[in-house]
Amino acid sequence: MVKGTKKQRPKKLGPKKLGPKKLGPKKLGTRKLGTRKNTLFKSDSVVFFDDDLDRNINPFRDRFPKIKSILIPPSWKKSYTQILKGKSDFYYPMMYSKKYKNNRYAQEIVKDMDMANSSHLCDQCNNVTNQGITISQTKKIIKWANEPSTKERAVLFDLDNTLSACNLIMRYQYIEKLEEHAELFEEIAQYISGTIERYDALQLMFFYLRKNGVACKIFTNNGWAKRENDINFQVFLKIMQAFDPKMKEDDIIFGKNNKEQTFKENKDMMKIYKQI
Ligand SMILES: [Mg+2]
Repeated sequence: MVKGTKKQRPKKLGPKKLGPKKLGPKKLGTRKLGTRKNTLFKSDSVVFFDDDLDRNINPFRDRFPKIKSILIPPSWKKSYTQILKGKSDFYYPMMYSKKYKNNRYAQEIVKDMDMANSSHLCDQCNNVTNQGITISQTKKIIKWANEPSTKERAVLFDLDNTLSACNLIMRYQYIEKLEEHAELFEEIAQYISGTIERYDALQLMFFYLRKNGVACKIFTNNGWAKRENDINFQVFLKIMQAFDPKMKEDDIIFGKNNKEQTFKENKDMMKIYKQI
């Protein structure tokens, strides 16, 4: 069998059931909680995507109500089943490397992974996965970006488990010989995206956001995005550029584990916020 061609689940993609029961008089309390809160509207001009409700989304909704803060369902809701096929998150690197045998980054990661060896427990913890921004969400974002707007628009993306479907784990050997590994950045970006289809969808989303003049920011607490450590930061930037070639240094905002405060202190961001 050819690897990576197996398609799963058209089950859920069938025609929507719009039975008459749902069209009757609105019953209070039947609509899913928070549905509208997580829906992108034409009128939204600054949007923030994150998978952490308590630490990031809720504080943003309270403090910056004019920003549309959209919650990406966290890892405990649903793992990235497209790769895991029912296995636990821990198996992500192995399952990924099996599916994408040409991805050198994935092959490299599994090389020194030893299921029986407890010294790799740390790696195991990092293998949390979720759905991240889904392909269907990227389509909605593209549709939103293509709407004409008189306002300046911006989208802030958390990285881990929002833009990516798994945490970004970096290996030092890539940083030491940055130039030699230049071509690996796309493979790292693909690895953290889950499937190639999802990676392509994310690239396309950035293309249309930029095309329509929407500012794109990576707003992350991932330590690799710290500006002070320039070599790490450059690697991080290169990986982000594999998603969006137009990404510049200033588009990476390190959240300092307090995104709400970091946003408040960021003059460019506050300028955009004030014009909403
Ligand atoms: Mg996250």
